[in-house]
Order: sequence, then C-alpha cells, then structure tokens
Amino acid sequence: MALTGIEILKMLPKKNCGECDVPTCLAFAMKVAAGQEDIGKCPYVSEEVKEKVGEASAPPIRTITIGSGDNTFKFGGETCLFRHEKRFENPTGFAVVVSTGMSDEDVGSRIANFNALQYERVGLNLRADLICVKDEGDKSAFLALVNRVREEAPSAPLVLMSNDANTLKEGAEALGDHKPLLYAATKDNLDEMAEVAQATGAPLAVKGNTIGEAAELSQALLDKGLKDLVLDTGARTVRAVMEDQVVMRRAAINHKYKPLGFPSITFPCEMTDDPLVEAMITSVLVCKYAGVTVLSDLRGDILFPLLLERLNIFTDPQRPMVVQEDIYPINGPDENSPVLITCNFSLTYFIVSGEIEGSKVPSWLLIKDTEGLSVLTAWAAGKFSADLIGSFVKKSGIEEKVKHRNLIIPGYLAGMKGELEDELPGWTITVGPREASHLPAFLREWKPE
Ligand code: SF4
Repeated sequence: MALTGIEILKMLPKKNCGECDVPTCLAFAMKVAAGQEDIGKCPYVSEEVKEKVGEASAPPIRTITIGSGDNTFKFGGETCLFRHEKRFENPTGFAVVVSTGMSDEDVGSRIANFNALQYERVGLNLRADLICVKDEGDKSAFLALVNRVREEAPSAPLVLMSNDANTLKEGAEALGDHKPLLYAATKDNLDEMAEVAQATGAPLAVKGNTIGEAAELSQALLDKGLKDLVLDTGARTVRAVMEDQVVMRRAAINHKYKPLGFPSITFPCEMTDDPLVEAMITSVLVCKYAGVTVLSDLRGDILFPLLLERLNIFTDPQRPMVVQEDIYPINGPDENSPVLITCNFSLTYFIVSGEIEGSKVPSWLLIKDTEGLSVLTAWAAGKFSADLIGSFVKKSGIEEKVKHRNLIIPGYLAGMKGELEDELPGWTITVGPREASHLPAFLREWKPE
C-alpha cells in the first residue's frame, strides 16, 4: 500500500536542513510520495525507514535490468495505464533471436544487423536493444553461440533461452558480470530454474500456458524470495497477447496484484512467418504495454518505423524535448560564416540544423534556452525577447568566433529587428526566412554587411 506524504513525513527527522536538495522535510515527503524523489536522498533516515518507504513507494510494475555496466536494458517500472495520466517510463525493448538451429551465416547477419541498424534522431541513438540466444537442445552449441554473440555484439544485453536449467546456468556463468534474462521457468522446471536465478542473481522469465498459470508460477517464485521476474503468458496470437498485456497492466496498477506486477516478454516472431505482420503485431505491443518484443530478424525498413513509434509513445508528454543552450557549428564554419539564432525546442533545432546542413553553407547556429517553447510561443511568453537574446549573444562567446557582426533571426521575429539592434550595438540584424525550408537558398545568397 502506497504511503501518503504525511505518513512519510512522520518517519523523517524534520531538520528542514535542505541537504536532500528540497527546502523542507514536508516538501521532500510529498515528492517521495509522488515518486519524484528517492527516500535515500535524506542522509538522516535509517535503513529500516528506507526499506519501508522504498517498498511502499515502489512502482506497481517492478523495474528489471538486464546486462552490466553501460550496456544495460531497463524495462518495467510503469505506474499508469495511460500515457496522459503521467508518462510511460521505460520503452518497450526490441530483441532479435539467434538460435543453435540457425546457420552460421544467418546468425552472423542478425548480429551484423543488430550492430549496424542505428539511427540518430532528435539527439537520441535509436536502435534494437537485446539479443535472445536460443538453445535448440545442444548445450555445447548453445555455449559457443553465447560466446560468439558476446564477442561480436559486446554491447548487447542478452536473453538466454533454454528448457534446461543447467544449460542456462552455464550460459549465465560464461557471461561473468553480465546479467542476462533467463528464459524460462515453467511448471515443469520451476524449482531448478529458481535455483539458477538465485545462484546467478539474474532476472528470471516465467512462462505459463495461460495468464492464470503465469500468475501462479510468479507467486510460487515470489514465495521462494525471487524478486526480479518477467512474464510470458504463453499467448501466441495478436488478440490473446494484447488481451493479456492489458489484463496484466490493469491487475498491477489498479489492484496492486503482485504476481502480475512484472514487465512482460512477448514473441511476435512466433506468431507469424510474414515479416510485415510481425511488424504490425510488434507495433500493437509497443502501444499496449509489452516490456520486450522478440523479432525474428532486424530489417531497416521495419525497425526504423517501430523505433519512431516507440519514441512517440514513450516521450514524456509533460516535458518538452529540448536541446542545450549553446553555439552549434554546422558544416565546419569559420570567422566569416553566418550566425543564426533560434529557440531550443528540439523539433525546431533539428529542422533548422538539418536545413543548414543540407545547404552545405558553413554556419554558426546559436540556440537560446526558451524552456522548450517554439519561436513564436517563446516570444509571446517573454522567453525570446530582444533583451534576453541580446544578453545571450553577448555572453555566448560568438563574438570571439566571427569577425563580422551580423545576426540572422527567424522570419517570424521580424518585428524585433530594431529593438534587437538597440540591445546589440554594432551588430546588424538580418531577418531570415519564415520557413526553415527556405534557409538553404537564403544562406547561399548571404554576404556579411
Ligand atoms: S535532508 Fe532529510 S532532514 Fe534535511 S530537509 Fe531533507 S528530508 Fe529533511
């Protein structure tokens, strides 16, 4: 049962010292209750209180981490049914499967695709997240495959799949510090798999034939003291898998039902032989709560739209995407290159910088912090006014980078030209085009005054 802010406050020392970066104990307690602060940030609370509050304020769906060091994949940790209620926390993982039944060439091409298919968008690196290594009944081939994947895709967090607990144990041990997801405990091997998970400290997937059976197995593992579980309800049709995902999420969030309070692993690769249908099922599962989706292969034309869909679904709707206030050199500018300024709303930045890049004109792009607001909204809110732009330009250091004193402002801010010239004595203000798409032609014509 979640604790209220007042209940948490009663357990705090009430020094109001601010060492937790929140001015008062009451404000800190409220933030802990809302899941915005970690109780451990107060240095004066006992271990007992940390455990009690930590347990009570833990998300209803447990956060699971696979991998080690910088190469980890985190999923679960969800706290709501609908994104607009708060946000979705950890994006659905995309995994590709390689198995001991595949040819060397097929395995090689899947690993190569995993490494190669990466896309830069809005400052993020979008890519698949995991590789599933599947045993088809040959332990030594499985262990060799685990080593091969580790060598050829060292950044990939792994899922080890076998029906044999001993095979999984040896596979996990071969990975050293890297904690794979062990797949899977079933009603036939529950005790052996629980022992392997306990011995290796790796998270364990549970596979039932129905959602009810998955919940029973999960409860049995909870009773054995295992905490890091992942659920496969056994559903292998799009309708059944989607229904199960919804039931699991509702049971965990609305009813705090512990046996289903874990992220899921789903297998679109086992639901169809058609790659496009597989992509469609995966797309549904990204929207409806899957923790991990396992694909039969990675293809750019399928992976890229899925990555963009995921980016949209898992973007925090309450926080505008921003880029850092700074001077951005584009196309290798020098002291004679044009200087442009715009806001730090990331969509604006990427559109404007993309057009400048496409123009091939070396340029300096000044990005002013407007708290993620677009040009006109920021201007209307007083966050992109002439005085703020003037003081930013003076402090930015651009005057040391260029010989000229010409600043190109967005076309929509034409009315600010005179005011800005007053704020920046010695600078000439040029009004740029209204649309970013007209920037290349504008820049090719541009000459310093
Ligand atoms: S550090 Fe602890 S005692 Fe100090 S204000 Fe924060 S909660 Fe209160």
